[in-house]
Amino acid sequence: MLLSLAVTLSLTVSALAAPHEKRARAQVISHCTVPNTIALTFDDGPHVYLRDIVNILDSNGAKGTFFFNGENYGCIYSPTNADDIKYTYDHGHQVASHTWAHKDLTTLTKEQIDYEMLRVEEALTRITGANPAFMRPPYGNYNDLVLDVSGLRKQTVVIWDFDTQDSLGASTSKQKSLIDGLIHNHPSTVLSLQHEVYESTAHDVLPYFIQNLKTAGYRMVTLAECIGKNPYQRVVAPSPRNGDWHC
Ligand SMILES: [Zn+2]
Repeated sequence: MLLSLAVTLSLTVSALAAPHEKRARAQVISHCTVPNTIALTFDDGPHVYLRDIVNILDSNGAKGTFFFNGENYGCIYSPTNADDIKYTYDHGHQVASHTWAHKDLTTLTKEQIDYEMLRVEEALTRITGANPAFMRPPYGNYNDLVLDVSGLRKQTVVIWDFDTQDSLGASTSKQKSLIDGLIHNHPSTVLSLQHEVYESTAHDVLPYFIQNLKTAGYRMVTLAECIGKNPYQRVVAPSPRNGDWHC
């Protein structure tokens, strides 16, 4: 009797809670879905190589996706960083959130996670006018709470299926051999991870990667395009710089 009451109660509670949780929890993307596409993605900026990376992509007819921090290698609101992000956006590349201060979100409370996400979304919206719809958690770390907050903020969580291992300290020759292996396997799609903060990534490995991808016949598109989704929740006019633009 007691057991059956407990079962009945738990079924009732889960029936009430489930639809809400299902709506709130964010989707996690690890792969592109449009055949023959690669999404080149870059984390941890804005930093000094951002404009170089955009120019390399542009000169090869490629699009990239940039998961920006608010305060990591520098402040997102510095005149140079804000200009470089606007330049990236204006050249048709996707801007997205890597959260404010590159904290491991799985160590934070719901309110702290929300703050880390809100502040960089706010900065990107002020700088470009576009409110991003995609978020990559620092270190690729997430838990149910991170997915719940992401869902409430209408963010899709993005991981990757190929890592050049630049942030893990791989040598450029090691990174190129990983790329050689990827090209040899020729998967239908690729969602790659690189970090824009390394000189060797920007000036050595990325040009090598792009040449090989071109030879292999991949289309280098934004993350949103490689999964057929809208990159932004809404797009308005950028804001003029004011006293709120600080870290
Ligand atoms: Zn990162």
